[in-house]
Amino acid sequence: MLVERFLKYVSFDTESDPSSETIPSTSKQKLLAEYLVKELHDLKVDNAHMDEYGYVYAHIKGNNPDADTVGFIAHMDTSFDFSGKDVKTRIIEDYDGLDIKLNDDLTTSVEVFPFLSNLKGQSLIVTDGTTLLGADDKAGIAEIMTLVEYLMTSDAARGDISICFTPDEEIGRGADMFDYKKFNADYAYTLDGGPVGSIEFENFNAASADVHVSGISIHPGDSKDKMVNAILIAMEFNSLLDATARPEHTESYEGFYHLHDMSGDVSNTEMNYIIRDHDSQAFAFKKNQIVKARDFINNKYQAELVKVDVKDSYYNMASFFTDQMHIIELAREAITAQGFDPVSLPIRGGTDGARLTYEGLLTPNLGTGGYNYHGPHEFAVIEEMQASVEIIKNIVKIIGER
Ligand SMILES: [Zn+2]
Repeated sequence: MLVERFLKYVSFDTESDPSSETIPSTSKQKLLAEYLVKELHDLKVDNAHMDEYGYVYAHIKGNNPDADTVGFIAHMDTSFDFSGKDVKTRIIEDYDGLDIKLNDDLTTSVEVFPFLSNLKGQSLIVTDGTTLLGADDKAGIAEIMTLVEYLMTSDAARGDISICFTPDEEIGRGADMFDYKKFNADYAYTLDGGPVGSIEFENFNAASADVHVSGISIHPGDSKDKMVNAILIAMEFNSLLDATARPEHTESYEGFYHLHDMSGDVSNTEMNYIIRDHDSQAFAFKKNQIVKARDFINNKYQAELVKVDVKDSYYNMASFFTDQMHIIELAREAITAQGFDPVSLPIRGGTDGARLTYEGLLTPNLGTGGYNYHGPHEFAVIEEMQASVEIIKNIVKIIGER
């Protein structure tokens, strides 16, 4: 049922929209939410429901009152980077580990994605290359639903279990309307991407910096000693930031300043940066450099030409786990029991789990068996999805037997 479920979920177009002000950002996400509620009701999870914001909640009663309540979370929306409408899937059985021709114009090649050769012999779900697949994060939803189906017919020892499917994760709002009280779990796991066996609990500290430069526009023919060109001042501002600390020059634990948008003219120029760093001190340093660059320019020109607005977006969740490593160890045990090596790499991004963790619901992320997210090369590995279901079953079992 896992694969059938997954294929059904990806048939829903659930793209979220960062420019929308509504919650959820696109109402079509509610169509999948309603479908999931119905499916949960069919599985006899009568309390399952969708709230006014499109979040789906469900609770499964345990039979061991001493056991922790564990939560499982996945998101329903897909990335706005690429269309997720009319997804046409194809299953490649016994994959040969070579290039995958998606259509006449597009091939997922081993040269670009060398890890493909490790997947030889497995079964892959790919698209026709005109859409993303939506394994991010419908693989996570299908895996959690398959766990629910198993739990509803099993009387093995377990604690209470909380389930939530969230909208708008891809636009960074998945945790905005999350109801912690209703969810009511001791800790949780997001199932959101990456190879099976991965446990992620380190992510970036993140901030945005909006920089506004005011200039003085005068006819260029008689502007001597009068014109202040905001575009050139903006370029000067940017040149004060460490050029080696850019996304295209950094990896692993290295942080960056990323100028992602710039527009303007002689009078007014606007630059939008994001700032990222795993280390909180290096993060604070980077934010301070933005302020120092502002002061440097304003001093140099003896005028308040540059204004900056630096805002924190989210924080690294790693520090919250230092005295709560049992949550990570539990997942490692569940993964090892399934014959996989647990792997933890720092996330070079954020997750809803980081927000939830910051609010007190500790939530690392587990791999789902999906790859190449947010574009037409996205695919899922069926055997890894199946293993992922077994891993979350193991988590429930380990907790239930304590
Ligand atoms: Zn995701």
